[in-house]
Amino acid sequence: MTRPFNFSAGPAALPEEVLQQAASEMLDWHGSGMSVMEMSHRGKEFISIAQQAESDLREILAIPANYKVLFMQGGAIAENAIVPMNLSSRGGHMDYVVTGSWSLKSQKEARKYGQVNVIASNEADGHTTVPDPASWQLSRNAAYVHVCSNETINGIELHELPDLKALGCDAPLVIDCSSHIASRPIDWSRVGLAYAGAQKNIGPAGLTLVIVREDLLGHALPITPSAFDYKIVADHDSMYNTPPTYAIYLAGLVFQWIKRQHEGALQGLDAIEARNIAKADRLYGYLDASGFYSTHVAVNARSRMNAPFFLPAEALYEPFLAGAKTQGLLQLKGHKSVGGLRASIYNALPLAGVDALVAYLKEFAQRHG
Ligand code: PMP
Repeated sequence: MTRPFNFSAGPAALPEEVLQQAASEMLDWHGSGMSVMEMSHRGKEFISIAQQAESDLREILAIPANYKVLFMQGGAIAENAIVPMNLSSRGGHMDYVVTGSWSLKSQKEARKYGQVNVIASNEADGHTTVPDPASWQLSRNAAYVHVCSNETINGIELHELPDLKALGCDAPLVIDCSSHIASRPIDWSRVGLAYAGAQKNIGPAGLTLVIVREDLLGHALPITPSAFDYKIVADHDSMYNTPPTYAIYLAGLVFQWIKRQHEGALQGLDAIEARNIAKADRLYGYLDASGFYSTHVAVNARSRMNAPFFLPAEALYEPFLAGAKTQGLLQLKGHKSVGGLRASIYNALPLAGVDALVAYLKEFAQRHG
């Protein structure tokens, strides 16, 4: 049986190979007589799973040795509080760039923990552009500068992370990369801390990844819950509290899947990135040429992961979505704050999924154009 193509923004499609492997190991992991869900997080079996997952992630993302990888919980929304709790004491205030719904939410939460300056915003154009870093009102003495490097709802991506040092700013850059982590390389020379919920490109919901430079540990406010103090989590190898063991195991299978990918001479994350570029080009290429569908995001700000688009008439949405479902194209409804449609085309969605979507888009436009 072929499975439908799933365009959910998250929790999102996982590679079928990974789900098959997890299914085959469900009752008995590697002859241990236990499901991964039934193992002590302190036993040698699970410790080997967690260590392998971390080392594969380090390899895929080329994470430097002076960065800690933390397996946490609470999602990116919890990180909106955990980041300022851990880092705000380093400076007089916190700088936030607003590029869409998620960064708007992040800066709002941070205000509970100190002074926030919004140093750039695309609110005036309805979150459809990325403000040029040269125009950001970077201040002296900020504890950190926060950006959401892929705005899942608005479909905006920072295709290049800002080089704060070159802009005369010494503060560390903090990125919410929940919805494009592991879709392209990360330039760690520009990043102090990266956080991401797992449920788009990494695995099931419940796991949150934090990758943090070591000098940023140990500054938590006294009110910080111990389980959310990065230094305590790091000192306990992410086992201060019981970590989301099954989610870490599945993320580990996804990391191995990424390492196995190839496109021509490209391997691993490079192959994934090339495939993501090809998928996005094919989808936006058709939308632009169609004369029927419309998009709002500026071309240079378009996300490779989340593509919001619109039909020419409100009455067409219901038949569009019903027809898509019968073609095995699932979860294409747009986010309620933006409306319209949204195709999320994360790592696990193959080029064939985009081709199937484009074929349906063409056929629908012919019928209703
Ligand atoms: N940031 C971004 C960029 C997201 O896409 C999401 C989830 N869609 C969140 C934050 C919130 O994540 P969670 O609900 O897992 O806390």
